[in-house]
Amino acid sequence: MKITKIECFVLLVPDYRADANSSAQDNLVVKIHTDEGHIGIGETDTNPWVARAMIEARGTHIMGLGLTEMLIGADPTDVEGLWERMYRGSAMTGRRGLGICAIGALDMALWDLRGKIEGKPCWQLLGGSVNPNRITPYASLLPEGDDLDTYTRILVERAVKAKELGFRAVKLEVCTKGPYSHNSLQIEDDREIARVVQACREAIGPEITVMVDVAYAWRDWKEALRAIEMFADQDVFFIETPLPSDDVEGYAKLVHASPVRVAAGEWLNTRFEFLELFRAGGLDVAQPDVGRVGGLTEARRVAQHAADHGLLVVPHCWKSAIGIAASAHLSVVSPTCTHIECLPRELADSRLRRDLCSEELPIVDGYIPLPTKPGLGVAIDENALQSFRV
Ligand SMILES: [Mg+2]
Repeated sequence: MKITKIECFVLLVPDYRADANSSAQDNLVVKIHTDEGHIGIGETDTNPWVARAMIEARGTHIMGLGLTEMLIGADPTDVEGLWERMYRGSAMTGRRGLGICAIGALDMALWDLRGKIEGKPCWQLLGGSVNPNRITPYASLLPEGDDLDTYTRILVERAVKAKELGFRAVKLEVCTKGPYSHNSLQIEDDREIARVVQACREAIGPEITVMVDVAYAWRDWKEALRAIEMFADQDVFFIETPLPSDDVEGYAKLVHASPVRVAAGEWLNTRFEFLELFRAGGLDVAQPDVGRVGGLTEARRVAQHAADHGLLVVPHCWKSAIGIAASAHLSVVSPTCTHIECLPRELADSRLRRDLCSEELPIVDGYIPLPTKPGLGVAIDENALQSFRV
């Protein structure tokens, strides 16, 4: 069996806002075809036009080969061999950053494809169920609102709604300051962040797990620690991306001092970037994004290294049901994975999140049952795919 064709789809919601901080407004979806009619699907979370160019570009020398050219004609079931081939063959152009995001979409599609060829769910192909915990999605909640009162009110409403939908855990996107704030909000006083967290906690009660994401809000670890201490009494499971990604020393100092677990890693590419943080003692919770980190092949390696360092894993995912399914399969094969991120279909502003897939992994009583269908277990709505294509 051979790979015969790779298709890339650049997708965008028609009502996107360039000043919003939600990457759920776009997507890069790939389909990998074989000569026997199987199709694997994957996605990645980066600029979709540039990722498509990375996948489709021709190679010009042996350290700058084209990703599509390397895959056409290859055995689709040799997934880890193909990862290595793509990583080495594109190393001068890729190796980190967007090159790895592009490989991530292809690797995700290759695991889906192999699952469909062999009639097995991806987690079985990836080594089996080493995680005795159930797959627990947490509802990622990003409210609308161009002022703090509206933002807080909608966030509280969505937290209550997530609880009603059966979610056992929610993450509050309190992106109200810093370089990645939502809708250009800039609220300097960190006590406001604590008030938002408290309002949500009071609305949903003590049983629901609460995480907080501030999207790189603070400039240094002492500013972060001071702010975290303001809401540490609200039983927060982790604080996400408190500092800029490359402040490895800052992360290490914050992890040592913080009363709340520190989580990061959504933008990191390959296990090598995670290992830098692990070795520095810079994380409590590793958050590989399956598409960005280099696919399921690389995400599983990150998860194993995290377990070896005594760290939790909670994969990042801000995309469609394709990526959520990839995270679910990763959870099953990751010894220390406690939750996976999920934009609830019912609470997502992005039509792309809501409509791209006609079939997704079900959530039953707040958990995702062990997937049984071949591959990732999701199906694309072809009409939706065409309608979002640009
Ligand atoms: Mg985040």
